[in-house]
Amino acid sequence: MSRYEHTHARDLALVTDDGGNLEPYAWPGGYDIAYYVADAGMICVTCANENRDADDPQWNVIAFDVTNWWDDAEACDHCARLVGPSDE
Ligand SMILES: [Zn+2]
Repeated sequence: MSRYEHTHARDLALVTDDGGNLEPYAWPGGYDIAYYVADAGMICVTCANENRDADDPQWNVIAFDVTNWWDDAEACDHCARLVGPSDE
């Protein structure tokens, strides 16, 4: 089971603020949120907000995951920033 399959049903509106930007952390808990794009990549919140483009599979954010259940952090596919439990 991929993480994508685990998360694709979650509603992005849950993590979108009043200004239309995606949230960096989940509440309660303050865990990092990882974002998934249409080409199956995983990107960090910074890349997600700076590059959102519904017409480009590389940047079309379609799902997210709260990382509290991950064993390890994973690198953003775009900027390599670590997302997940060991991110500081
Ligand atoms: Zn990034």
